Amino acid sequence: MTRDPRFDVLFEPVRLGPKVLKNRFWQVPHCNGAGSDRPGLQAAFRGMKAEGGWGAVFTEVCTIAPGSDVMPWVASKLWDEGDVRNLAEMTEAIHAHGALAGVELCHSGGLSANAESRAPASVVSQIASDINHLANGRALSRREIRDLRQLHVDGFKRARAAGFDLLTLYAGLGTFPIFFLYPFYNKRSDEYGGSFANRTRFTRELLEELRSQIDDCAIGMRFVVDTLEDPYGYGELGVRAGEEGQQFIAAFDDLVDYWDLNIGTLNWGEDAGSSRFFDTNHEAPYTRLAKAVATKPCVNVGRFTDPEVMVAAITSGQCDIIGAARPSIADPFLPKKIEEGRFEDIRECIGCNVCVSRWEMGGPPIWCTQNPTSGEEYRRGWHPERFEVARNKDRPVLIVGAGPAGLEAAVTLGKRGFDAVHLVDAGPAPGGHLNWMTRMPGLSAWRRVVGYREQQLAKLPNVTFVTNTRLDPEDVLGYGAQIVIVATGSHWAGDGIHPALHDHITGADATRPDVATPEQIMLEDKQLGASVLVVDGDGYHMGSTLAETLAAQGRKVTYATHFDNLGPYLRYTLEEQRMYQRLVELGVEILSQQLVVAYESGKASLVHVWSGQERLLQVDGLALATGRYSDCTLYDELLERDEDRNAAGIDQLHLIGDAHTPGLVAQAVFSGHRLAREIDTPNPDVPVPFIRERRLVGATEDDYRLGAPTLTTP
Ligand code: ADP
Ligand code: SF4
Repeated sequence: MTRDPRFDVLFEPVRLGPKVLKNRFWQVPHCNGAGSDRPGLQAAFRGMKAEGGWGAVFTEVCTIAPGSDVMPWVASKLWDEGDVRNLAEMTEAIHAHGALAGVELCHSGGLSANAESRAPASVVSQIASDINHLANGRALSRREIRDLRQLHVDGFKRARAAGFDLLTLYAGLGTFPIFFLYPFYNKRSDEYGGSFANRTRFTRELLEELRSQIDDCAIGMRFVVDTLEDPYGYGELGVRAGEEGQQFIAAFDDLVDYWDLNIGTLNWGEDAGSSRFFDTNHEAPYTRLAKAVATKPCVNVGRFTDPEVMVAAITSGQCDIIGAARPSIADPFLPKKIEEGRFEDIRECIGCNVCVSRWEMGGPPIWCTQNPTSGEEYRRGWHPERFEVARNKDRPVLIVGAGPAGLEAAVTLGKRGFDAVHLVDAGPAPGGHLNWMTRMPGLSAWRRVVGYREQQLAKLPNVTFVTNTRLDPEDVLGYGAQIVIVATGSHWAGDGIHPALHDHITGADATRPDVATPEQIMLEDKQLGASVLVVDGDGYHMGSTLAETLAAQGRKVTYATHFDNLGPYLRYTLEEQRMYQRLVELGVEILSQQLVVAYESGKASLVHVWSGQERLLQVDGLALATGRYSDCTLYDELLERDEDRNAAGIDQLHLIGDAHTPGLVAQAVFSGHRLAREIDTPNPDVPVPFIRERRLVGATEDDYRLGAPTLTTP
C-alpha cells in the first residue's frame, strides 16, 4: 500500500547539526530493564524499533560515572570501556536499519544511592535527597564543579566511541543542569547560585566545552520545560514554561542541535501520564511555549498513537518531531504501519503504565500489556510482526474463552498458519472481563486490547469466532479439535477470602444482598445502599476503581486496605497520587493499614495491622476486591479424563491466562502469546528456556543463544 499524502509531513527528513534524521519519528529515552548490563536485550529491543521505522532510537537514561549509580533501577551506563563495548551492540543494531542512535546522558549526583559503586555523592547544596533516604552528599566546591564538567565531557566522548549519533544532555528529573537551575535544589550564594545566569552557568560551561570537543555528533538537551504547580510539582521553586522555561530555551538554543521537551518532576506520572488521568498530547500547552522561542527542532511526547494527531502537532507549530516511548513499546512498527497505510494493524498503547511499573519496581525486563513480544526479542527470539508456520498447523484448534488470553492465542495461532482455529465464548462479544472492566471510570482506553485483536481476527480467515456458546466437557470432547486451549478466566472472590488473613472475612458473603463483588456491581448493577465500605486486599487498581465507581454514583464511600498506602502497585504505574486526589475529591475516606476482619448486619470490624487497635464502621454495604479465583473446572475435568480425550483425538490440552493464574491483563496476553509461539514444541506447557544474560565462566557467544547447552537442565 502507498502512503496517504496527508501523512507525508511525518516522513520528511530533519537536519540536526551534523546528522540527518530520516523522518519525524523519535523513540525518546525510556527504560526496558536492559541498561548496558544486558547488551543482547538492549540491542534487539532498540534494533526492533529501528526496523519498525523510528528515525531515532534512544537508550534509557545513561549515567556517566560511578558517582551516579542509580541501582536498583536499571539505567544504561557509560562508566568505562566495557560499557562502550556493550552499548556499541545497540548502536550497530539501530544503524543496520538506517536510524540514528541516541543516548541520554546524565549524572544524578546526590539523588543516587550509589548502592553498587559505594561512591560518595555530590550535590549543589547540601540538603538530603528528597527521594532517596540514604543519599545526602557534600556541596560541590568550584574545583569539583570543574571536575564534574570534565566527567560529563569524558562520558560524552565514550558515547561517541560507542557509535551514538545523538548525544542528549539530560536536563530533567535528577540531573546537574536541573540541580543548579531549580531554587528547590540550589541555595548557593556564589557565582553558581542566585540569578538565572548563575544558576545556568554550569550548563553553559558544559555545553561550550562539549561543542568545542565534539563536532561530529548532534548534541541536544532533554529539558523539562515546566515543573508544574503544587501538589504535583515544585511550584515557584522549579521552572514554569512561560517564565524560566522559555528563558532557558532562549539561552541555550545556539548551543544545541535539538530540543527534546517534556514536563514534570521526579513524580514523573505527570509526564508519562496514564490514560486514566491524561489525554493524548496533554503536554502541548507547555511545550508550545518552548517551541515559540526555539529555533532548533523540537521533540514532543504525549502518548501519540494517532497519525492525525501527530500531523496536527507538526503542522500547528507545536513541535517538529514526534517523540514516543510507550507508543513505540506497544508497537515498534508504528511508523512503518503509518507509512504503508496499515492503520488497522497499529497496536495502540492503552496508557496503563505497566511498562513503567517494571522500572519503578527496580528494573526487571519490560512488560507491555499490548505487545507481549516487548523485551522478548532477544531473550525468546520473538519478532512482533513475524511468525513461523507451526509444525502442527494441520491440527484443528479449539480455544475456549475470548478474553485477552484466548484472543491473543487465537490471533497468534492464526498468524502461525493453523488451518482451523475456533475461538468460542459464552458471551456475545470478545473481551472477557475487559467488557465490564473498561466501563469503569478511566479505563475505556484499555478496550484497545480487545479492539486491536478483533481487527486482526477479521483479517484471519483461518480463525472462526463463535459467540454465545458455553462449552461443557462433553461439548469440548465432541468438538473435533486436536488441540484444546482453555482460557476461561477468573472471577473476583465473593466469599471474603483475604490475602492478609489467609482466611475469609467473617460474614463477607456476596450471596447476601448487602455484599458485592466487582462483577456484581458492574454486570448485575447490584445496589449496596447509601454508604459502602470497599475492601482492597488486591493492591492494584480494582479496589480504588470500585471506590471511584461507587462514589461517582453519589454514595458515601470508605476505602480500606491493609497495605501502607492506596493500591501499592499504583505507585509503580505512577497513578497513586492522582488516584488519591480523585478519591478525595469524590469524598471517599481512605483508610490504610486497616484490615477488615468481619462484617455483620451493616457493622464492619477493622483492625489496625500494626497496633492491633480495633474500630467499628457502620455502613449499608460491603464491596469486595480481595482476590480472584481461577475458572478452571472445565480444564480440570478434561485433564482427569485421559481416555475420553484420547478417544476424542485431543492430543494437546492447555490452560492459559487468568484461568491459570489471575493477574495483570499483560500477563494474560503474554500467556496466550507464549503458548501459541511454542505450541509445536515437545511440551508447550513448559516455556522454552529464554536466554539469561549473566556472566558465565569461560563463556563463548554460543552460550548466549536460544537452545544453548547452558540453558538446559541435566
Ligand atoms: P483472561 O483474562 O484469562 O483472558 P477473561 O476472564 O477475560 O480471561 O475471559 C474469559 C472468557 O471465557 C470470558 O469471556 C467467558 O465468557 C469465557 N468462558 C468462560 N467459561 C467458558 C465456557 N465454558 N465456554 C465458553 N466460554 C467460556
Ligand atoms: Fe502502553 Fe501499557 Fe504497553 Fe506501556 S504497558 S506501552 S502503557 S500498553
